[in-house]
Amino acid sequence: MPDDMSRPLVPGWSESGGSRQLEASLSDPNTPMVGILGTGDFSRSLARRLVASGYQVVVGSRSPARSVALFPEEVEVASQMEAATQADVVFVAVFPEHHSTLVTLKSALVGKTLVDVSNSLGINRDGPSNAEQLSNLFPDSFVVKGFNTLSAWALQNGPRDGIRQVLLCGNSSKAKDLVKHICHRMGFIPVDMGFLSSSLEIENLPHHLFPSWRLPVLCMLCLFVFFYLYNFIQEVIHPLVEKGKGAFYKMPIEVVNASLPSVALVMLALVYLPGLFAAFFQLRWDTKYKRFPNWLDRWLTARKQFGLCSFLCAVMHAVYSLSLPLRKSARYKLSNMAYQQVKAGVEDSWNDEEVWRMELYLSAGIMALGLLSLLAVTSLPSVASTLNWREFTFIQSSLGYCALTAATTHTLIFGWNRAFTPARYPFYLPPSFVLVLILPCVVLCGRLALFLPCMAGRLWKIRRGWERSRQIRFALPGEDCRNGGGEDVSNV
Ligand code: NAP
Repeated sequence: MPDDMSRPLVPGWSESGGSRQLEASLSDPNTPMVGILGTGDFSRSLARRLVASGYQVVVGSRSPARSVALFPEEVEVASQMEAATQADVVFVAVFPEHHSTLVTLKSALVGKTLVDVSNSLGINRDGPSNAEQLSNLFPDSFVVKGFNTLSAWALQNGPRDGIRQVLLCGNSSKAKDLVKHICHRMGFIPVDMGFLSSSLEIENLPHHLFPSWRLPVLCMLCLFVFFYLYNFIQEVIHPLVEKGKGAFYKMPIEVVNASLPSVALVMLALVYLPGLFAAFFQLRWDTKYKRFPNWLDRWLTARKQFGLCSFLCAVMHAVYSLSLPLRKSARYKLSNMAYQQVKAGVEDSWNDEEVWRMELYLSAGIMALGLLSLLAVTSLPSVASTLNWREFTFIQSSLGYCALTAATTHTLIFGWNRAFTPARYPFYLPPSFVLVLILPCVVLCGRLALFLPCMAGRLWKIRRGWERSRQIRFALPGEDCRNGGGEDVSNV
């Protein structure tokens, strides 16, 4: 970092004498002079980026002499008052607890744009935000909230490293335009979030911990624990109780590998189940203008995350399955089986039915995984933005149902005729693949029901705005217009 700081940002600058006076030739005369209050990590990164983008920068410090060595030569380090007076726009890179110490600069900042980059200590639900408090401290300045979602590190690296969006809000559109222009020139993309009242939301953003992932991840973990225990009882505890022979070696790979596909399939069914609920609610209510219950709303918005969790489990199942023959236990079992066959005088153990079962089982599984990969890739915002709405729904809905069908077929073929073998019901518990198939089969049948012309036609009308209870009555001039004229909406 010290080496970086000593390297000139503008080629040829240091040879010109190393003066700390900013040269007018550095940038356009119309370019605003940018001030930064504070000399911490954020201020240093911001100053570097601003200078590299052609801005004249003046940094205001409580002790300029001490801080001057922290900045590149192109940056002028002055007292807070000098910086506030010289600058046209001022970034406040000071912790919000210390904003009140800046009130002495009030007169120098009248009519100027103040950019509040501060973050709060934790999630602040009730407000006011730091930016609103700053605005109260400086009522004659125009406060714009922004840049707080970028780290000092991201600022220093610049937009080439991926983070490009800068969320901004403020009550003065002129001040916002000025900050937007600075953003653009630094290579970032400003996103206007509206008035300063949005600043609380912007300040809370860096504190959120995967809010949209909580429900899907919790669901995935609960399902995994359930299926793991279920398979553990069947695969490990049952042989121990029946034959007195424990099979605890199955716990790290076999039991996990039996649980993962169950979780993947149920999670995939959970992606499509809320859409069916929504369709049936609309059919029942005969309108699309009634709000869904909150639980359904939350579920509908978390479908992408449900799908990605399903994809994760499916990929892990594929990797675990590929590793099965590498295990010592598998090798011992195979050689023991071969020895038993030789002892029993069996020359050819080829079983047509088993061969076909395995071929179809693997093929359906690979297809399901391939389709799930496609769904996962197209759910990435950068890829999704290259698709139009029809392409996106075709992939996510039509191909998604194909993936669900392929995964269900994969499980059905795995079950084959095993579901009808009494030995597969240890402790009278059905095999896990029987349990797992219930939800996907319900979803697929529900989807088929919606294809029936009577259902599909009505649903299409409802989604185009048709309502059974809404009567439209047009009144001619002179007729009784007590309802204010045109529409009788009393039944809505
Ligand atoms: P920092 O390294 O602690 O720097 C804060 C600076 O504030 C100090 O260097 C100090 O400079 C100045 N200051 C002015 N008045 C002060 C006072 N009364 N008491 C203490 N310091 C005073 O903090 P930072 O990491 O740069 O963060 C600055 C602001 O940027 C914070 O609001 C933070 O939330 C926000 N932010 C930081 C990051 C990040 O990655 N660091 C990211 C997003 C947002 P002088 O002594 O020279 O006056």
